Amino acid sequence: MPIATINPATGEILQTFESLTLPQLEEKIERTANTFRSYRHTSFAEREALMLRAAEILESDKSRLARLMTIEMGKPIKGAGQEIEKCALVCRYYAETAKRHLADQPVETNAGKSYVHFQPVGAVLAVMPWNFPFWQVFRFAAPALMAGNVGLLKHASNVPQCALAIEEIFQRAGFPDGAFQTLLIGSDLVESVINDRRVAAATLTGSEPAGRSVAGIAGNQIKKTVLELGGSDPFIVMPSAKMDEAVSTAVKARTINSGQSCIAAKRFIVSTDVYPEFERRFVEEMKALRVGDPLKESTDIGPLATEQILKDVESQVRTSVAAGAHILCGGKRLERVGNFYEPTVLANLTSDSPASCEEVFGPVAMLFRARTIDDAIGLANSTNFGLGAAAWTNDSQERSRFIEELEAGCVFINGMVASDPRLPFGGIKNSGYGRELGEFGIREFVNIKTVWINEQPTGEHDRTE
Ligand code: NAP
Repeated sequence: MPIATINPATGEILQTFESLTLPQLEEKIERTANTFRSYRHTSFAEREALMLRAAEILESDKSRLARLMTIEMGKPIKGAGQEIEKCALVCRYYAETAKRHLADQPVETNAGKSYVHFQPVGAVLAVMPWNFPFWQVFRFAAPALMAGNVGLLKHASNVPQCALAIEEIFQRAGFPDGAFQTLLIGSDLVESVINDRRVAAATLTGSEPAGRSVAGIAGNQIKKTVLELGGSDPFIVMPSAKMDEAVSTAVKARTINSGQSCIAAKRFIVSTDVYPEFERRFVEEMKALRVGDPLKESTDIGPLATEQILKDVESQVRTSVAAGAHILCGGKRLERVGNFYEPTVLANLTSDSPASCEEVFGPVAMLFRARTIDDAIGLANSTNFGLGAAAWTNDSQERSRFIEELEAGCVFINGMVASDPRLPFGGIKNSGYGRELGEFGIREFVNIKTVWINEQPTGEHDRTE
């Protein structure tokens, strides 16, 4: 894939970039390694001041950065601004909590003193996707840098200007040269970066095939990875749910970021008791969404980020319809320039149609009926993914069963799945492993060192061994 800014609303190629040459890449990795030697010894207070400064820069440059995202990957501008605010939030969160999350933890044993001590691991490569081009990077970078690690970013090839802007934010904030660098490279060079002895670990947010590849390479080098991969989250509606809120949240949960979110609700599993009402109201609200220019504040759905994504969504819907799915609204691209796809609702899906078992990365919702809670849980778990799950019910027994039995990294009751700097985020099954955010996130890339001390009275120590 060429490294380029191509406006998905117009198809216009705005800027192209050359990949780093091998000597340039070598120079950047060497700089990272050199910086780590000193940066690892900086205090939490020093890092905190830098991270708070990064938050301020994000806030003061919000409009420019949001616009950059919208032009590179088509995100509606309202959501782009909110994304920048959330990045500032995660910087502040870790600036304020890193010291506490990584404080020594005393443990009582037979030793005079024993405790757990957390140390940075070194350079971490972050391979990141375009869909939340700032948030995905900041939720990695803020904890990594606060822990004393240094970061190398290989961003998606369609958001090079976002990637460069992020590097610049950390530079302007005062982080030492080399603490956070963007590598403008294609995915073909990822292997050589992971294999480099100066790179300690890798994290990838992206698709399943990319995750398998990165984890395979890193596994071969015995280097740790965190994988945040795709999802096909269920959104279950039971009879006791408040229908108004469930319907409007369902629409938002499916169409956030024009439907291109890993934790978007993709499969709506509705109790047969309330299915007709849910279907009618959901379709009405999906049809009412405003599709169009992502730079307009009033736009709900922008273009899909690339032409290939548009083609993939078209093909998944077409094949599902051929297998018997009914289109309740939408079902086709817009007859205009740009990668626009209509908000779409599919029903009557077979369990093996592409829309049912693959991740659909666009504004396409799938409706399923469940006769009982067992049906609902069975359908929800009938996928290889296990990222998030939402269940709407006011019945406490149903609630307990959803919390216990849904196969996912997080369960939201009467709400939509969303990430929050204070809570761990990540999946199970083919959605990946490891966690970002919260105290669990900052402990992924640290050496959890056991310290065991036998206090010996002076003079009794046997030096002969
Ligand atoms: P993608 O094609 O996997 O790309 C993600 C990143 O991986 C890009 O930087 C890409 O570089 C790189 N890449 C692709 N193939 C690679 C390979 N074989 N080896 C090394 N790097 C490789 O995914 P995407 O289409 O950008 O993003 C959408 C996917 O990300 C969806 O599946 C979505 O669910 C998932 N996602 C997951 C989360 C989560 O938190 N779980 C969050 C957001 C998105 P190039 O651009 O140069 O190809």
